[in-house]
Amino acid sequence: MENSSVLVIGIGAVGSAFLENSIGFFKKVGVFDGDIISKNNLSNQPFYRDCDLALPTSKVSFALKKIGTLDTATEYKAYERYFTRSDFEIMKDYDLILDFTDNIKSRLIINEGCVKMGKQGVFVSLNEKEGLLYFYRKGACFNCILRNSAGHIKEGCESITSAPEKDFLEFLTQNIFEFYSDKTDGGKIKIFSLKTKKVLSSAIKQDPECEVCVKHVTNKVGNEFLQICSSGIKFSYGKEVDLNRLSSLLNGSKLYGEHLLFNNENKSILISAEGDFLFTGYTKDEAESLLSFCIS
Ligand SMILES: [Zn+2]
Repeated sequence: MENSSVLVIGIGAVGSAFLENSIGFFKKVGVFDGDIISKNNLSNQPFYRDCDLALPTSKVSFALKKIGTLDTATEYKAYERYFTRSDFEIMKDYDLILDFTDNIKSRLIINEGCVKMGKQGVFVSLNEKEGLLYFYRKGACFNCILRNSAGHIKEGCESITSAPEKDFLEFLTQNIFEFYSDKTDGGKIKIFSLKTKKVLSSAIKQDPECEVCVKHVTNKVGNEFLQICSSGIKFSYGKEVDLNRLSSLLNGSKLYGEHLLFNNENKSILISAEGDFLFTGYTKDEAESLLSFCIS
């Protein structure tokens, strides 16, 4: 795959395992994630096990440091933030978009980007019972299946409580390579049962009412979004924030280079200079009011 390039969005349990499994396959790999490694989101993510937790480190910088030493032939590009609509242009630099994010909101933004930028993509999710892959290449988009899934599409990768199994990882990697090599059509969904190892495959029809791929209506969600996932509540401001100013607002917070950490008993807020917030232990209401306090 001489000039192949792939954009990996979300490197939690499944995304990081894919990165490790596909070393040397692509010429260029872009990696998007705004997460910062913390004690409470590591139990199911063996990839980050040897990370030093004393200082906040972004998943992306840790991953690329680890993989870069094993793979010098591939060009890795780091995007240490959550993917938002203002990142659509970046998709142009890649042949294939891989969505390993852990929530529907992010998936819908990535889906919209694939449709708008004319990019093929694979949407990956894993829960306790099954792994699900959706292949998009024109035609039916991820929003089409979501509209017709009757609850079958679950939140995403990090809803699992253990590391992904070897069987599933082999299925995942092989299927992504096959799709990339044009051996799998778009508009297809494959469900891998973790119990029986059987694969259920079906074709998805484009929904004539789909706002994204048929009607091309942009919904009102801005670049900013608040999402709830297993590691906490995430918010992407979509632009840089002044950590020094925030550190004076949040009494007792500590600055670590490009990150600000605020600990309050069992609750914490991690803020990156890129404008990504991770709230742990807070309710949605508390997170929202703290946010408006921080960014007003
Ligand atoms: Zn659609």
